[in-house]
Amino acid sequence: MTAKTVLISGAGIGGPTLTFWLKAAGFEPTLIEHAATLRTGGYVVDFWGLGYDIAERMGLAGQIDRVGYHIREMRIVDDRGERVTGFGTKIFQELTGGRFVTLGRSDMSRLLFEKIKGTTEVIFDEEIIGLQACADHMQVQFRHAGERRFDLVIGADGLHSNVRGLVFGLQDRFEKQLGYVVAAFEVRGYRPRDEDVYVIYGQPSRMLGRFALHDDRTLFLFVFTADIDPLGPMLDLPAQKAMLRGKFGDGKWECQHILEALDRTLDLYFDRVSQIKMKSWSKGRVALIGDAAFCVSLMAGQGSALAMTAAYVLAGELAKAGGRHEEAFGNYERLLRAYIGSKQKVAERFASAFAPKTRWGLFLRNQVIKAFATPGLARLAFGRDLIDTLQLPDYRWPALH
Ligand SMILES: Cc1cc2nc3c(=O)[nH]c(=O)nc-3n(C[C@H](O)[C@H](O)[C@H](O)COP(=O)(O)OP(=O)(O)OC[C@H]3O[C@@H](n4cnc5c(N)ncnc54)[C@H](O)[C@@H]3O)c2cc1C
Repeated sequence: MTAKTVLISGAGIGGPTLTFWLKAAGFEPTLIEHAATLRTGGYVVDFWGLGYDIAERMGLAGQIDRVGYHIREMRIVDDRGERVTGFGTKIFQELTGGRFVTLGRSDMSRLLFEKIKGTTEVIFDEEIIGLQACADHMQVQFRHAGERRFDLVIGADGLHSNVRGLVFGLQDRFEKQLGYVVAAFEVRGYRPRDEDVYVIYGQPSRMLGRFALHDDRTLFLFVFTADIDPLGPMLDLPAQKAMLRGKFGDGKWECQHILEALDRTLDLYFDRVSQIKMKSWSKGRVALIGDAAFCVSLMAGQGSALAMTAAYVLAGELAKAGGRHEEAFGNYERLLRAYIGSKQKVAERFASAFAPKTRWGLFLRNQVIKAFATPGLARLAFGRDLIDTLQLPDYRWPALH
């Protein structure tokens, strides 16, 4: 095999998946993560289609179903918490043959990580600070562990990818902001709870969602219109909280109660809603997968699945090409580019409906949602986006037990 050792940066969704399949193909992956442990908390992700298929091939379908939630209703409420509109989510189960589940992103990441734990070298609290392309390898400088050489380096380090920054250029060259900021946190013991219902309070240019989690935890998700300079300094926790208070402080429904809970949290997910668009996902012996390469944003509701798909296809193509990275990276991109492009378009279309900017826009959006109650219309509306047009290739995995 030409290339054998592969350094993967980022133990989120794509990183552990790639590690698993590279191992199955007979490579020697090393996985590094800059956080000291796997990230906890965060937000929930819907999971179906190719991602579900790959999880099944990894022997995870049963656990995902057990750990996850089977949402029955999406409910939009008014200032007093009365239902304005919504729809039953049975249609998602119908369209996907019951293979649709919602679960914590960190739960998904943990389940994937458990599949590789103990099988391969994993280093937490570490990151790449320098990358040099040599004739037959990559020379890597680590923040803590000095220098090492690897045949290939893969960036699976998310929307703000460090590997992309080191090899391809500054974030703002590739980032397309969709005009929103998203924040999420969870608390224990919050009341009221609505089991398996996603409750959404929508106001012009902002929405706040509440979702009941296992173990008496509740997740809150804020989405609001704002532009943040991608080259500006990252906001710290007090500034993030202040921004949320500024945006939701005059909100009705449960806003005050939720903002009080926010005051007490130390673990807040907060980021721009952006996509990443690159002309190429690889350069020499370095390639990117998942959000690092092609973030579709939360508006697509499928970023985790796509990160897993990219990981699976990249590992499969490397195996098929016997480690010849130019051939494998080229095929990886040829197989996925049009498919990912179509997912990015769906997300861009959907973005304006997420938190409409005016009362009129909000009213129209709610009318469309109301129409989903009509049999056949929901199938028509969701069918095209829910059913995957890409078939997962079959590869040979000599080391898969
Ligand atoms: C609010 C919200 C809702 C979403 N809903 C859905 C949904 O319903 N369905 C869905 O499929 N997707 C959803 N997504 C998208 C999904 O979470 C991402 O697309 C997915 O997590 C991408 O996986 P990834 O492995 O590429 O990156 P990530 O999961 O972001 O993982 C990147 C990893 O790299 C690590 N890292 C970062 N920098 C470095 C560094 N310098 N060195 C080493 N490691 C580093 C990070 O700590 C992290 O562990 C949603 C996203 C958001 C924000």
